[in-house]
Amino acid sequence: MPSRPPKVKVGIGKPAGKPKSWAHSMERKTTARGYGWAHQQMRIIVLREEPLCRPCLAVNRVTASTTADHITPLAEGGTGDRLNMQGICNDCHKAKTAKESARASAASRQR
Ligand SMILES: [Zn+2]
Repeated sequence: MPSRPPKVKVGIGKPAGKPKSWAHSMERKTTARGYGWAHQQMRIIVLREEPLCRPCLAVNRVTASTTADHITPLAEGGTGDRLNMQGICNDCHKAKTAKESARASAASRQR
């Protein structure tokens, strides 16, 4: 028999960390976008470790991270590894995504 880790009983009351319903709704959203549970876990880890937007900090701006961003996008060969993830704010993410899709369409035109 393979030994299973004991089931952790969650007591009634306050859940540890984020409320369950939040995690569940986020899971559904991210899964619909093609990201799985592993990515969702990574997002939580990245935002916990980097509560401030990394690109903003680089220019001495203090902004809260809202997104776990792939530093090198998956479309450009990046991985879902922690080393390829950074905490980033909404504005930086939008700007970065716009640049990335511009690169992607330029690359597809070259083919
Ligand atoms: Zn930012």
